Amino acid sequence: MFPLKPELCHTPQTKSMLTGYLSYDPKRENIMGDGTKLNKLPSNIAELRALIRVSERIVVFTGAGISTESGIPDFRGPNGIWNKVTPIDFNDFLASEEMREESWRRKFSGDMKMENAEPNVGHLAISSLVNAGKVTHIITQNVDGLHQKSGTPDEQVIELHGNASYATCLSCYKRFELDAIRAPFLQDGTIPHCDVCGGIVKTATISFGQPMPVEEMQRAEDATLRCDLFIAAGSSLTVYPAAGFPRLAKQNGARLVIINNQATDLDRICDLVIHEQIGPTLSQAVD
Ligand SMILES: [Zn+2]
Repeated sequence: MFPLKPELCHTPQTKSMLTGYLSYDPKRENIMGDGTKLNKLPSNIAELRALIRVSERIVVFTGAGISTESGIPDFRGPNGIWNKVTPIDFNDFLASEEMREESWRRKFSGDMKMENAEPNVGHLAISSLVNAGKVTHIITQNVDGLHQKSGTPDEQVIELHGNASYATCLSCYKRFELDAIRAPFLQDGTIPHCDVCGGIVKTATISFGQPMPVEEMQRAEDATLRCDLFIAAGSSLTVYPAAGFPRLAKQNGARLVIINNQATDLDRICDLVIHEQIGPTLSQAVD
């Protein structure tokens, strides 16, 4: 994938450079044009507002943290699904009819249900930045489709780990809607096969052990290299290769903002870090 330059990974904290560049001072109302409001904001959110204002090609990278605020459980967190149920490895799914049956049983048992989740104020804030032409792309590790549901056009959402709301044939990539698979499976355990090529049908998510989607990874890299501000929101930045993008953005000269309720390994190289909830932070920074 993209070349990482380890020596640059240890770039000293650049927050002081950033502060100098933006010359942020709440008393200087002309920076934001709404100084009255700015004076009431916490300084880190005011700084985020200022960064968004001076940026023209923003990429927002989202992880589980933004979706947990919509009630979707974090797969990998301390109380995550993967701590209760062992994930089915892609090769096991391919190799065994029983594993495929188990996979569909889990899918339709309700344990991982996402269909009823609604976008929260964080998704809506990002969507408003997309529609204002500020955000060029959202790169997401989430599979819930909430960015699209919040009004961001499909072509501006890059789903690194796929999408759980439909299925595809692994051979010819024909799309299958879940409702068409659910009924026969619940009736007599019928496992779906592609009606065009006979291939194996799987939810359109990327499982452990499954290759990353080549086209999406390339689009994400291109967007990252073109951005002037990269905002990573709600990701622990531990799952690679996805977590390489914020590092790449920073190495390429973009400013890097991290919003996460816990510290991440990249906090030390970012320009601004906010350890808060995503929705309240972004909605104050964007409205
Ligand atoms: Zn097929």
